[in-house]
Amino acid sequence: MVSPTINQVCLRTLSHPNPASIDTYIALGGYKIWQDIIKNRPEPQSLLTQIRQSLLRGRGGAGFIAGLKMSFIDSRASKPRYLVCNSDEGEPGTCKDTLILQYNPHQLIEGILIACYVQGMDVCYHYLRGEYQKQYDACELALEEAKSKGFLGKNIGKTELSIDIHNLLGAGSYIVGEESAMLESIEGKPALPRSKPPFPAVKGLYQQPTTVNNTETIASIPIILEKGADWFLDYGCQNSGGSKIFCVSGHVKNPGVFELPLGTPFKTLLSLCGGMRAKEKLKAVIPGGSSMRVLPAKHIMNLSMDYDALQHAGSALGSGGVIVMDESTCMVQALSCIARFYKHESCGQCTPCREGTGWVVRILDRIIAGDAQLSDLETLDRIAYSAEGRTICAFGEAFTWPVQSFLKHFMPEFKYYARHGRSMVTGR
Ligand code: SF4
Repeated sequence: MVSPTINQVCLRTLSHPNPASIDTYIALGGYKIWQDIIKNRPEPQSLLTQIRQSLLRGRGGAGFIAGLKMSFIDSRASKPRYLVCNSDEGEPGTCKDTLILQYNPHQLIEGILIACYVQGMDVCYHYLRGEYQKQYDACELALEEAKSKGFLGKNIGKTELSIDIHNLLGAGSYIVGEESAMLESIEGKPALPRSKPPFPAVKGLYQQPTTVNNTETIASIPIILEKGADWFLDYGCQNSGGSKIFCVSGHVKNPGVFELPLGTPFKTLLSLCGGMRAKEKLKAVIPGGSSMRVLPAKHIMNLSMDYDALQHAGSALGSGGVIVMDESTCMVQALSCIARFYKHESCGQCTPCREGTGWVVRILDRIIAGDAQLSDLETLDRIAYSAEGRTICAFGEAFTWPVQSFLKHFMPEFKYYARHGRSMVTGR
């Protein structure tokens, strides 16, 4: 197979000296599209059509077509309308947006400006996760640079066009990455997901029309308009235009972050990481962050990394956080580790989530302590199907999908642990 081209879309400044500076971005053709827009004021609809045709799908986890989401904003809707850029990046196994924020913030800013223009918005709130102080500083500096060139602010290019961007630092919760919880947080309230409908496109931030997009999604927009929707489509694969940033962690020789065309074979991704560590065999992979379903080695080995292939295999591309586990991994203990995280992060508004996350942890603790009975596995399985579709937000799926899939694919390990009080893999 031909080697895939690495880091060509959102991380294209990475291999250059001073990757975050505005001079580097401009030297690579950056802000050209935005300057053309300021000068020629094309029909926003024509730009939106190109974004839709590129089949850019949301890179934050859901994979919804970004151009379609933008089209939900009614062009006759009242103003102000808001764009919210989601750089919360809290999904375990995911560390992709951080590289855009730190090393290519100007492509994100240009993407935000274009997205605002397309949707008739004049304010963007850019929400970064609480731990991203360094990245926040990089974005603040980039905003200053862009302002000094006259690319944003009041009356851009002496026209009536005005767009402001505000960087905000969160307070450290996982659930604030859910779009309606993020809107609550920006309004100064606790980050509790809202019941929907109404959806943010109708009543979002301060009850005004709002679009929330992930950082990697927005940063892809300038290159779609620069190189064309067809180029972007060709760069990816059917139904999945463009590239994806994959964050590979776990039992590989060289964990790392790689931006690759969508549709790249999993085997290629694994070989870019130097293969498995210590010559151990691959056992399982969570392909899209810890809330996605785990796939055993034989299911993923011949798959390509794109939305459709992973969905057909029973999992999802999610945020691109690829967690690799070798045969030394005890799947009972691995699930316990994941479950503990979700129990801690449930906001507690819905009973199936608040109680279900606690029960999953308690049963797994019992199994690991050697105090379980086989009937506990039936209870665990029942809980795993009790919350899906019955909660305010998708956290109901986030904590149950791992439980469902670990039990489905690795039930003998769970039974062994429940029967013998020790791990089938580690013997402890
Ligand atoms: Fe909160 Fe969980 Fe309900 Fe989401 S599903 S609103 S995290 S309790």
